[in-house]
This record gives sequence, structure tokens and C-alpha cells, in this order.
Amino acid sequence: MKILIHSELKEQQKYSCICCGAGCRSFLVAVRPEERQAIEAQENWRESLGVDELFVTHRAAGKLGFGLAKRTDGSCVFLGKDNLCVIHKKFGLKAKPLACQLYPFVLTPVGGRLHLGLRFDCPAVCENIGQNLDDHRKDLKRMARELITADIEKLELPEICPKQKVSVKFFEAINEILLKMINSDAIPLIERLQWLRKFVDYLGEIKWQNVTDENFNDLVGMIQGGLLAEIQSRQITKKAVTGKPRKLLGQIFFLLCQPTTIITTQKTGPLKTLKNRLHLTRMEKQLRQLDGPLPRIQPDWPNCNLQDLEADFGTFPAEVQQLITRYLTCRIAGMGYCGHNFYRYSLTEGIQSLLLGVVTAGWVMRIAALQAGRKKIELADAQQAVMTIDGNLGYAQAFGMGPSRMRLEYLSNHLEGFINWFCS
Ligand code: SF4
Repeated sequence: MKILIHSELKEQQKYSCICCGAGCRSFLVAVRPEERQAIEAQENWRESLGVDELFVTHRAAGKLGFGLAKRTDGSCVFLGKDNLCVIHKKFGLKAKPLACQLYPFVLTPVGGRLHLGLRFDCPAVCENIGQNLDDHRKDLKRMARELITADIEKLELPEICPKQKVSVKFFEAINEILLKMINSDAIPLIERLQWLRKFVDYLGEIKWQNVTDENFNDLVGMIQGGLLAEIQSRQITKKAVTGKPRKLLGQIFFLLCQPTTIITTQKTGPLKTLKNRLHLTRMEKQLRQLDGPLPRIQPDWPNCNLQDLEADFGTFPAEVQQLITRYLTCRIAGMGYCGHNFYRYSLTEGIQSLLLGVVTAGWVMRIAALQAGRKKIELADAQQAVMTIDGNLGYAQAFGMGPSRMRLEYLSNHLEGFINWFCS
């Protein structure tokens, strides 16, 4: 399968590892049986690392069942005090599990090609540090050869909207249009987000079986142009969101702000598990309110009142708009928002989820700004916010479950107000 690095992504995104060890401290790295054997054969790691276990069983390891063991702070047992991986240091990059080598790249198979995306929960990706993406092509090709299985080649194309399918040609053409919309330089971010929102709403209303090669361009072009004119003719109303939509949005905030660090060494009996669940339920309930203390979902969040987050934080500065544009470009160019890698969502549902993600990022930016004693959003706030939500968007299981699909459908009807309030 060919790897596609989209030209728009190449233009905007760079990456080199900055050895921060952030990824090695948070996720559980799933390992294949042959990788476990190879690591065991390298040396007597238990003795040299002073640990009892190198691998653990955990639900986060998915089908593979086993993940790399962690220390009590959540860091991988192979992460050295110097923030470097000891396997990498002693035996080279290729000796590490494939998941470690690939991170923060994501390869999504669509239409017979692997579309390259990057994870923004990686600080180097989010801050756009490093080499051109083409410089990684050789390594990516090698990893892709290991990743591709017969199952991957048989994966179906995501739906365009629930219960409707289109050809690969139409699907990719629409994806291109979405990319162009989000990268229309002359238009402020808020208008581009609203344009995207409206456009996918319309895509969901088309009877796709009636669309032919002859009328596709005219139809899509007409919708695109008409919607932009409509959006630009409207006054943006910045108004706090209240009532049921805000309550359900609070649940999205809860799901997307969860810490991604998995600590496998904590022993939890049934009582502790129950207490944890109750604690999480209380935090989620609290987030549905507009008043009361901000629950500490992330341990470093400040002491503040939820009401403080409902003030007007001004407009996003240009560099924040650029970051959000780059983030959405990366997700869309890499097809990392629908299908097999994203809860099997259709294209329209995936874009609506991405927009809810950006709304959540807008809310988290306010927390970061308050923490820094400001009432204005700056780039550092936006970076922190995007890193927080991206670790969960597409990866947190609860976000894609049955009730979430219904909630997404309901919240999509309220996206206009959310975007105006949290993303302008
Ligand atoms: S094996 Fe190395 S690269 Fe992978 S998570 Fe552990 S320390 Fe990080």
C-alpha cells in the first residue's frame, strides 16, 4: 500500500522527536507476541531495570492483550532517567515495539492507500518542531510493510453519512474540499468552522445514489459557494450556551479531558473501583453545570469556578487560529476522523466530532489562560488544550459508544452556538 503524505500537510507540519518521553509516560503500549519474545531475548531486563515484570495484561492493550509494564508514575519500565528509551539506546530504533516506532504518526487505510496523520498529543507535533515529513518516508515505508495485513486490505470505505456510501473517488474528492475549506486563508477561523459545519449538514441531506460523475462538481460547488455567502452575510452572535445543549456539552468536556496516563501498577479492589467510578460520575455531573467548582479532571487544573470560564475571552489571536487550522488539516488530510480508526463513524459524523473537539479545546484554553492569570487566550493555552483533547479524540472508547452517537446527533444541531462562543 502506498503512503500518502498530503501536500497541504507537508507544507504545514514538521516533526522530529524531542525525547520528551511524554508518550512513554502516558499510553499503554500494546505488544505483539513476537515483540515480547524479541525483547525478552535482548538481555535480562528484569535484572538490569530492577523490575519484576516487563509486560502486563490490560484492557487498554486491546486484542493483543499485553502491554509494556509501567512504573508507579505511569512511565514505561524501559524509559530511562535521561528520558531516553533503553531498548532504543542499546539495540536501536528497530528493536522497539512497532507502536513505539510509529508514534506519533498514524497511518489510516482508505481507498487502497495509507493516509499519513500525526497525533497532536505529542508536544513536538503540537509545537511543530523538526524535519519535513518527507524525511520520515523511508522509516514509514518499513513500518507500513509490517503493519499491513490481509484484514487491513479488506477494510471498507467509511460511509459518507449514516447509511449512505459513495465511491472512493467521491469520498476523496469531498475530503479534498473539506481541506480546502479549512485552509481558505482569507477567511477567519470562525467562519471556516461554520462553513465546514454547514457543509457536512448538507452532505447528510443529499441522496447520494442520484449523484453522478457529471453532476458531482456542480452540486458540491453550488452548496459550498452558497453556504459561504450565507455565513459571511450573518452577524456572529457570541452568547454563552445554556440549557440542555450545555449540559450535554459538559459530558463531551468530561470525555475529552481525561488524563491519558494509564497506571497499571495500581491495585484496585472492588471498593476502590466503585469509589473511583462514583468520583468520576460526580465530576461528570459537575461539568454539566455552569456554576460551582471546576472538577479536577486534569490534576494540574486550577481552583476556579465554572462561571469564570463563561466570561468573554476575546478573539483567538492569529497564531491560535493557525494552530487549529493545522490540527484540522492534519486530521482531515490523514483521514483520522472517520471509519476504522475513528469509531467507524461516517465522514459527516467524524467532522462533527472534530468540531466538538475544537469547541472543547476552546473551553480548555480558557482554563489554561485562567491558570496563567489571564482573560485572553494565548498560543501556549491553545497548545495545552489541543494536546489534552487529541489524546482522547478517536482513542477514548466511551466517546464512540452507542449513547455518544445519539449525543453527537443532538449536539450537532447546536454546533453553531458552541463554535461562536468557544472558538472565536
Ligand atoms: S519501549 Fe521505549 S519508546 Fe516504547 S514506551 Fe517504552 S521507553 Fe518509550
